[in-house]
Amino acid sequence: MSGNIPSESQLSVGVEVGPTSTLVALVDATANVIAQEAIPRDAVAKKNIAAALHLVRRLCAEAGITVPDLKAIGICHPGVVSSHNGTISFASSLGIGGTPYPLGAVVEAQTGVPTVVDNVATASALGVAHHNTFHEFHVSREFAVNYEPEWKNQRADFAYLSLGFSLAVGLVLNGYVRRGTVVEGEIGHIPIQPGGLPCHCGQRGCLERYASRSAISRLWPAGGEGDDAITTMFDAAASGNAAALAASSEFADAVATAIRIVILSSGVHGVAIGGPLASAGEPLIAAVRAALDRHATHSPFIEGLGLPSRVDLAPPDVPVGAIGAAALASGDYASPLMVPQVYTIRDTP
Ligand SMILES: [Zn+2]
Repeated sequence: MSGNIPSESQLSVGVEVGPTSTLVALVDATANVIAQEAIPRDAVAKKNIAAALHLVRRLCAEAGITVPDLKAIGICHPGVVSSHNGTISFASSLGIGGTPYPLGAVVEAQTGVPTVVDNVATASALGVAHHNTFHEFHVSREFAVNYEPEWKNQRADFAYLSLGFSLAVGLVLNGYVRRGTVVEGEIGHIPIQPGGLPCHCGQRGCLERYASRSAISRLWPAGGEGDDAITTMFDAAASGNAAALAASSEFADAVATAIRIVILSSGVHGVAIGGPLASAGEPLIAAVRAALDRHATHSPFIEGLGLPSRVDLAPPDVPVGAIGAAALASGDYASPLMVPQVYTIRDTP
């Protein structure tokens, strides 16, 4: 808890639904997290929502406000998210299939508070930009020197690369989040190797097969299936294990390829790496920068882009998804052509 609680109208709630837990944060207009708490995710969407809203009510009560005092609720969610109508589909971990689930309308009906739903990577991109606008930079000095002025003016031009079970990117362009028409940020399904490894999307050689948790499991089977396998891989590489060195180098090459695709296609100034695998920390970012250097060896064009200095880790231990979701719900960060819809309160479906 912060000792400084601003007026009720400035407080919003950000909810980040993750693969194993749901994080709820009470956030003010300058990206201060007043309170936050995570609860284990329930595999049934309705139970998950009920538990999250119970936590929202408790955090509000502890902060001395009621739920109707909130300015807005922002939810970022895995799966296919329609920010325009607040629905979720293909979120298998919550038992949601191809029939869109009206999450925004359900939460609005139960709280009476305007609610916005968005993609996790998109919300996290805005969360990093928003956090860095109001707080001390957690990124490297070089990165901060290059990009601080734009963030201070809230005209961030910036990408968030989410590394985890899947590979996705969120974009903040000229201060606004980029929302796709049908799909957004799914760079994991760009094929990079013709005839390469099969992907669950039905294609072969998708980038996600080389730069995600499944790639770590394949390259470094000694690490097991969990998110900490990447840490054991870099630890073993640091102690000179030849297999771990080869695995970490191949993985970093794929992440570096993702970064080149993002910067070459969108022209953003910088990329922050987040998601569960970013917990590997400094060894990961060092390996990615080394890979970007290798990729530039024979290309004056790539070398001239200065890619290693344009990538860094997202601020650790900051709930950037929840901060970004709260900002999206309460502020003016969606591009003018794609303003988030505020759902009409109606009966719970
Ligand atoms: Zn794919």
